[in-house]
Amino acid sequence: SKDLGRNSWSYFSSEMHQRRQSRYLIGAHLQQALQNNEMHLAYQPKLSLGTGEVVGVEALLRWQNPELGTVPPDQFVPLAEDSGQIHEIGDWVLETAIGQARRWELSGRCIPVAVNLSARQFQREGLVARIKQLLSKYSLDASLLCVELTETCFLHSAEETALALHELREHGVKVSIDDFGTGYSSLSYIRTMSLDQLKIDRSFVNNINEAQRDRQLVSAMIAMSQALGLSVVAEGVETREQLDMLRQLGCDEVQGYLICRPIPAEELDKVLPDLAGK
Ligand code: C2E
Ligand code: CA
Ligand code: CA
Ligand code: CA
Repeated sequence: SKDLGRNSWSYFSSEMHQRRQSRYLIGAHLQQALQNNEMHLAYQPKLSLGTGEVVGVEALLRWQNPELGTVPPDQFVPLAEDSGQIHEIGDWVLETAIGQARRWELSGRCIPVAVNLSARQFQREGLVARIKQLLSKYSLDASLLCVELTETCFLHSAEETALALHELREHGVKVSIDDFGTGYSSLSYIRTMSLDQLKIDRSFVNNINEAQRDRQLVSAMIAMSQALGLSVVAEGVETREQLDMLRQLGCDEVQGYLICRPIPAEELDKVLPDLAGK
C-alpha cells in the first residue's frame, strides 16, 4: 500500500541522505539570502570583570529563511566556505558591523565591534585593503574594530594570515584568537603573530567548577595570556559560579548567556545600561 511505501522509504532513507538533502537545500537558498535581505547581525556584549563595563560586542551572523526557518551559522558558514559565497557574505558582515560601530560612535557610545573572519577570507588577496577601505568609508576609528579568527587560519594559510594580521594591527585594528585551545595547531604561531586577545573556548568554561583539570587549563591559559601581554576573554559563561571562578582566576573579560544573549543592535541599545556591574 501507499502507507507501507512511505514507511519503508523513511526507514531506508539514511541520515546521510537527509544530511546531503539539507545541505543541498541550504546551499540553494543561500544564493539568494543576501539579496532577499534574509541576514542580519546579532551582537553579544563582552564584559570587563575589572570594571564591570561592557568593553565591546561580537557580531554574530543570523539567517532567517522563509522556507527553512532560522538556520544556525554552524550549518551554513561551512557550506558558504565550500561554495565560495563566504567572500560575499563575509564582506557584508564587515560592512554591516563597521556601519553599526560608526552609528554607536556617532551616538556618543564607543563600542568596539568584533567580527568573525573565516580562514577562506585570509586566503584571498585584498582582505586588508577592503577592511581599510570600509573603515575610511564609515570614518570609523580602526581601534573600534576587532577581528576574531580561529587557529585553523594558521593551519591552511599561515603566511597570508600572518601578513594580514600584521598589517591590520599596524593600522590599529585589534586581533583576537577565537576558540583558543581547540585547534590543531601548536602554540608556535603565538610566538610570531601580532595579537591582542585570546578567547578561551566555551568547552573549557563549561565544567570549570566541577572539573579540576579544566580549571587548571583555564588558569594556565590566563597566565599565558597575561605573560604575553594579551587580554583574555572567557566565552560561553552561563552561570554565576562560572563567572565567580573566572574572576578568581584573573580572567579579564567574559561573554555568555549569563550576561546577555546575542541580540539585534536596537535591542542591545535598550539593555546596555542595565548590563554594567553585572
Ligand atoms: P563563535 O565565534 O565561537 O561564537 C560563539 C557562539 O557561542 C555563538 O554561536 C554564540 O551565540 C554562542 N554563545 C554565546 N554565549 C553562549 C553561552 O553562554 N552558551 C552557549 N551554549 N552558547 C553561547 P552562533 O551565533 O550560533 O555562532 C556559531 C559560530 O558560527 C561562531 O562561533 C562562528 O564560528 C560562526 N560565525 C558566526 N557568525 C559568523 C560570521 O559573521 N562569519 C563567520 N565566518 N563565522 C561566523
Ligand atoms: Ca567568535
Ligand atoms: Ca568562540
Ligand atoms: Ca566556535
